[in-house]
Amino acid sequence: MMSALAPRSAYLHIPFCHRRCFYCDFAVVPLGDRVNAQNGPGSLTIKAYLELILKEIRSSPPGPPLATIYIGGGTPSLLTPDQVRCLLDALADRFGVQRGAEITLEMDPASFSLEELNALVRHGVNRVSLGGQSFDDVVLAGLGRRHRRKDVLEACHWMQRFLQDGRLRSWSLDLIRNLPNQDDEAWADVLTQAVELQPPHLSIYDLSVEPGTVFARREQQGVLMLPDEDGAADRIAFTTQYLSDAGYCRYEISNFSRPGHASRHNRVYWSGAGWWAFGLGATSAPWGERFARPRTREAYAEWLNRQELDGPHSSLLSQSATPLSLEDRLLVGLRCREGVDLQQQAQHCGWTAHRCSLHLPQLAERWEQFLNQGLMERRGGRWRLTDPLGMALSNQILVEVVQWWESLPIHADPPTRTGVLRRPESSPPGVQG
Ligand code: SF4
Repeated sequence: MMSALAPRSAYLHIPFCHRRCFYCDFAVVPLGDRVNAQNGPGSLTIKAYLELILKEIRSSPPGPPLATIYIGGGTPSLLTPDQVRCLLDALADRFGVQRGAEITLEMDPASFSLEELNALVRHGVNRVSLGGQSFDDVVLAGLGRRHRRKDVLEACHWMQRFLQDGRLRSWSLDLIRNLPNQDDEAWADVLTQAVELQPPHLSIYDLSVEPGTVFARREQQGVLMLPDEDGAADRIAFTTQYLSDAGYCRYEISNFSRPGHASRHNRVYWSGAGWWAFGLGATSAPWGERFARPRTREAYAEWLNRQELDGPHSSLLSQSATPLSLEDRLLVGLRCREGVDLQQQAQHCGWTAHRCSLHLPQLAERWEQFLNQGLMERRGGRWRLTDPLGMALSNQILVEVVQWWESLPIHADPPTRTGVLRRPESSPPGVQG
């Protein structure tokens, strides 16, 4: 049985935001619009948290030098550049950082200055993921976002300038699609504006209404006007076509890039390799087994204290972690353009030829219907979702994987440590949303 490849990636979770957006159920701590990490409002909270995350990094089991680092949140650009440098230094001390490593920082428009961007780049950040979401002030206000159109445009122009003069290696713009009241024309307008700004990478997520959010409450009250399913699927198809014409490749369900700009950190996860993660709510899987840290500061601090006494969690140790299951490998692999080779994936999980011949045809049989419907295509042993149809309706196919997995006799794959089958994450490594 093979475990994940040795981890060469790390995710750091910075949970602080100005305020909680109306659709967000991430593990975040809203600190108010006036937060100032240096020594203003919220600074003590931020500093206390940084002590915790630094403690976690310093007490991590060792591993090989890192090839990718992703600082996400939350709004990591609320940190001062020196605080970010401190985190990067701690990772370098613990693991080392490979020459040419991809170091990404999530940044929100209006949460940093040009000087701060400059300083961050000097400290090693070479890729920015910018949470633009929309170019429309009314939409942004309706999402509960703090920034406005002019902030998005300004930040995009800075990013593009930094890319052109080599201070950044790449940058990405995040957009949300299928928002309340968003029709075809409005979405086409968003895409047109986005392409004009020339981000080399775009992440596009469809709005999903999560329990406990303001949007969920509005939906219950019947005042959230979400697009109908057909309209939403049309916009997904339009997106792929529009961006393909503009020179972007859809390399994963939610991610589009110009040549050479696919996120290396994201690909680590989809390739089945392991990754470290640090911070409250962050999910790590250095050797295949996923482990999610507690989602509140108090519980996270307590967990760190317990680790000090009991030693690292078993999933963090190569000798005791449960390897990645075939189910997980298929669920994450199918999200990518390359798709999955069933036989190969099963062999990576240590399946014998006998076990493969016993169980894999059942899954192939379940997938046949999707071939006929044009949702999947098959080349030799490799299966993949068609784009845009299969990717737009990927849930149907992923559910079929889960049902097949649950129908297997318990000995088909070693049980997970908890005995509970876990669901895949659709986010990049470590992101808990
Ligand atoms: S959507 Fe992003 S900025 Fe808004 S609360 Fe969630 S993590 Fe913070």
